[in-house]
Amino acid sequence: MHIAIIGTGYVGLVTGACFAEFGVFVTCVDKDQEKIKKLKKGIIPFFEPGLEDIVKRNLKENRLKFTTRIDEAINESLVVFIAVGTPPRGDGSANLEYVEEVAKEIAKNMKSYKVIVTKSTVPVGTGLMIKEIIKKNLEKPVEFDIVSNPEFLREGSAVEDFMRPNRVVIGAESEQAIAIMKDLYRPLYLIETPFVITDIATSELIKYATNSFLATKISFINEISALCEAVGANVNTVAKAMGLDGRIGPKFLHAGIGFGGSCLPKDTMALVKVAEEKGVELSIVKAAIEANQRQRERLTAKIINAFDNNIQGKTVGILGLSFKPNTDDIRESPALYIIHTLLNKKALLKVYDPAAMENTKNIFPDIIYCSDPYSVAKNSDALVIVTEWNQFRNLDIEKIKNLMKGNLFFDFRNIYDPQKIRQLGFKYFCVGRY
Ligand code: NAD
Repeated sequence: MHIAIIGTGYVGLVTGACFAEFGVFVTCVDKDQEKIKKLKKGIIPFFEPGLEDIVKRNLKENRLKFTTRIDEAINESLVVFIAVGTPPRGDGSANLEYVEEVAKEIAKNMKSYKVIVTKSTVPVGTGLMIKEIIKKNLEKPVEFDIVSNPEFLREGSAVEDFMRPNRVVIGAESEQAIAIMKDLYRPLYLIETPFVITDIATSELIKYATNSFLATKISFINEISALCEAVGANVNTVAKAMGLDGRIGPKFLHAGIGFGGSCLPKDTMALVKVAEEKGVELSIVKAAIEANQRQRERLTAKIINAFDNNIQGKTVGILGLSFKPNTDDIRESPALYIIHTLLNKKALLKVYDPAAMENTKNIFPDIIYCSDPYSVAKNSDALVIVTEWNQFRNLDIEKIKNLMKGNLFFDFRNIYDPQKIRQLGFKYFCVGRY
């Protein structure tokens, strides 16, 4: 089977490369010429473990190709995936202009039956909208089907998530389209991946409901962390005991500085917006968004308060810039909020991240970028762990203490043992623990 993926970002590239690995012939399209030029040489434009090998292998074996020519890609494909971005608008709703643009392009170039699949996260009703756009822009009548097939991969473990998903969701109107999608995903059928086959609107909503529930779990434990601090309880133990309850489960119950990234913040906002438009109150999702913002503010205030509200001229070292480990993605990263707030208070900042420094330089060109955690610690008054990269879990804390000018240690991912750090002479601050 030949398929086309329109939009070769995190999701499009992983999807394309993994389908090629399944033996499908894949053409990945992007309008970004530089990106396509690099990909043709096997250069991955972002950091994602394991992806480079798959891209290079499938390029070599001619199952994967990259182009800026959407017309050619559509022509030779039976299935066309839309994987372009759906960033938030100022009011929180999803911006669908890239999806609309691609739908028009597909219509213009469609000469035979196609299955058109949205992989992008799109609000309920988008499938229908795409259908209307295509009908309106077709040059001559051609049969086609619309499918919603939301993606649940996580940056940092995207390849594994795509190859071994918890489930595949397919929303479609026609048996023919469902059969083609099942055929495409056959290797996952063979490993007994659960398939949820449903209508398009339900499928679109599943993705938003999932991300909003995950965001709610994080915000819930973060609110409990604030209460733990107020009453002298330990949030890690609370979360562990809660997670042992089979009805709750242990995942997404780690207190920290809150969620960021390209999905949870934007998808929660977009869901609230869709509900508002329909006159439905989603008070829990709204509260999860607010609690997330409060957690950032509360923890950043801990840094400022530790300097008696006078952080001007003090040097703060930041470890971790990406919104989570194993990615270079800094979209909505809590680190950006901390840096922005401390810069406004005229603090000096030294930072290090194993993958996300280049992206951060585009936003904050004037802070100090260091080559490792120890250079960050050198002469700093405070050290803040923002992202729980493995590299930060086993630091030589004694060496750090000797290099630092001050003794303030903020562990916003609760990765160190408070007693051990305090024994070394640090003032240790964490989240919901004592
Ligand atoms: P991205 O910004 O990394 O990639 C989008 C790509 O689409 C860009 O390379 C852009 O140049 C390209 N593009 C835009 N308009 C185009 C056009 N007209 N023709 C061809 N290419 C075009 O975005 P992403 O992170 O891959 O996200 C894509 C979608 O997948 C979003 O809806 C997102 O919510 C969803 N999603 C993302 C993740 C994730 O972890 N990143 C996970 C699940 C779902």
